Amino acid sequence: MHAKQQLLIDGAWVEGDAARFDKTDPVSGETLWSASAASAAQVEAAVASARRAFPAWARHSFEERQAVVERFRERLEANREALATSIAHETGKPLWEARTEIGAMIGKVAISITAYHERTGERSRDVGGSRAVLRHRPHGVLAVYGPYNFPGHLPNGHIVPALLAGNAVVFKPSEQTPMTADLTLQCWLEAGLPAGVINLVQGAAEVGQTLAGSADIDGLLFTGSAKVGGLLHRQFGGQVDKILALELGGNNPLVVKDVPDQEAAVLSILQSAFASGGQRCTCARRLIVPHGAAGDALLDALVRAIGALRVAGPFSEPAPFYAGLASVEAADGLLAAQDDFVARGGRVLSSMRRLEEGTSLLSPGLIDVTGCEVPDEEHFGPLLKVHRYHDWDEAIALANDTRYGLSAGLIGGEQADWDDFLLRIRAGIVNWNRQTTGASSDAPFGGIGDSGNHRPSAYYAADYCAYPVASMETETL
Ligand code: NAD
Repeated sequence: MHAKQQLLIDGAWVEGDAARFDKTDPVSGETLWSASAASAAQVEAAVASARRAFPAWARHSFEERQAVVERFRERLEANREALATSIAHETGKPLWEARTEIGAMIGKVAISITAYHERTGERSRDVGGSRAVLRHRPHGVLAVYGPYNFPGHLPNGHIVPALLAGNAVVFKPSEQTPMTADLTLQCWLEAGLPAGVINLVQGAAEVGQTLAGSADIDGLLFTGSAKVGGLLHRQFGGQVDKILALELGGNNPLVVKDVPDQEAAVLSILQSAFASGGQRCTCARRLIVPHGAAGDALLDALVRAIGALRVAGPFSEPAPFYAGLASVEAADGLLAAQDDFVARGGRVLSSMRRLEEGTSLLSPGLIDVTGCEVPDEEHFGPLLKVHRYHDWDEAIALANDTRYGLSAGLIGGEQADWDDFLLRIRAGIVNWNRQTTGASSDAPFGGIGDSGNHRPSAYYAADYCAYPVASMETETL
């Protein structure tokens, strides 16, 4: 399977009419993609094609739509390796992790089908001789925006529920991952999805802006940064009749209460902060550790463990713990953030360094910023800030000292501490004695504050891909 390097509009692959853009492998430097972005007219043509395709797709029975989705899953299975290789090249993540992502993407198809039945399937009951029926109807044309860090799995988590519910879709992937989007859309066509039901517009911010500004979309399902999500909210959010799902970033805290098992605590911290090179929305960004000997010992052990982490190219052997960031520029930005923390008085415990010139490979960084004025920003990469605290109330205050509220974690403590943490912490995903990343597949996945607008995904995406229609029905007058 090879990338077409084109747009998909109304079932046809077409060249973009706007400026060319390149996507470079952030580790090897190889050009992976060089093609033209969608012009404003092509974005509108994609929306118009979805609009034309929508009524017939919505009239299909759920079983017919499910059959197409099942065939899509089979096409993903058949193209596992091509998709995983594309993800590893584009994002810089290790091949083993890209394969795991495709596994999750495939698993999500079945989860979405179950979720559709459980959350939006038809229900009816007798009420005084009439039938009270609850059905769900698709919105129409939904725009789905993907982030670069899970370019297969995350957009799929919106596209599959949207299509199952009977919507038509215009997909705007990240400009960092055009190839993975291209291959995924080929799988949809091979599965027999009718022309126009899904469309692909490639390009960067301008394409996203044009799509959000289109008068003819009924909803926008966005996964990405709080900066762009906030922008789209201002642009799109005032329209009361349209749905807007925003799944954004965080400045996630991991609080250490005490350390009954140092090895386990270090492992949880490594997984929280450095899994995927820190490129998960739920990664811990702030480690909140008690002052005193136990905290000092934990940080020493953490520095040793960080030094032993293997960071290398996505295809290297033995397999690395994590590999590159998606672009050399993103790595430059993160190194600049570390310099900024130092300028603000931060004390480097383990220095984040570029491992090979001209690449996005960064070693993990740990910096103590206790008492420093640091911006409340998500630094999306392998850089963990440390804040030391004196007592529990200060620990909670530090953890909540953010405009975000995506994930949070507690290490150590007794049941009563966990209960108290749950009551006081402001976050949508909260974990105890494990990493801050990951939530069970049937749980809502989303945040509060600037991390999202309360339309959690995973199982719950089925809820906002269709709206409820309640009827009272009597067969004879
Ligand atoms: P991003 O916000 O830069 O881009 C996301 C999408 O928006 C891309 O398709 C991009 O092309 C588009 N875009 C960029 N600028 C735009 C503009 N001005 N107008 C319209 N569209 C625009 O995000 P990213 O760097 O690709 O992904 C990483 C971010 O996503 C992190 O902040 C991470 O925390 C977040 N994220 C959140 C979740 C979640 O479920 N909450 C999951 C994964 C990633």
